[in-house]
Amino acid sequence: MQKQIVYLGLGSNIGNKIEYLDSAIEHISRNSKIKITKKSSYYETDPMGYENQESFVNLCLEIETDLSPVQLLEETQRIENTLGRTREVHWGPRTIDIDILLYGNLVIKNRILTIPHARITERAFVLIPLQEINKAIVIDNKRIDEYLSEIEGQGVKRIENE
Ligand code: ADP
Ligand code: MG
Repeated sequence: MQKQIVYLGLGSNIGNKIEYLDSAIEHISRNSKIKITKKSSYYETDPMGYENQESFVNLCLEIETDLSPVQLLEETQRIENTLGRTREVHWGPRTIDIDILLYGNLVIKNRILTIPHARITERAFVLIPLQEINKAIVIDNKRIDEYLSEIEGQGVKRIENE
């Protein structure tokens, strides 16, 4: 498999969120088939979907990998499980959520994987860190700033000094 540029979205909303994010990044970087090439700032985000929970901290990574999409999903799910993610409430609290946002120019839609990630274009907490690391990204022939102009800021604030 040829190396691909992939964008990952990470989020946490339990406990020491920044510590969970950093330890997820540490796990990702330990995989010899993944090279982290860019990391966004950390962003604090009001919860969406299920609102009776703590705020989220989100960030995006750009990686280079020769793992296939399914292999990469297995690896990110292994890391989620290692860091003790619980799945009691859909969209509810989680120590760490790792989503595959974009995988090269690949479009996938099957039972286990949707790439580009299904809700990427309507979530400011994904679009804002993604735009920070690569302004040139185009999804479905539209730039990130075009998607952002269609949605509200959704309470996404960059965390200083991280
Ligand atoms: P969400 O990330 O939407 O809040 P979950 O992380 O709980 O929800 O969703 C997990 C399921 O989503 C996984 O079982 C996985 O098979 C599926 N999935 C589909 N597309 C993707 C993707 N691009 N990245 C990560 N998981 C995905
Ligand atoms: Mg997920």
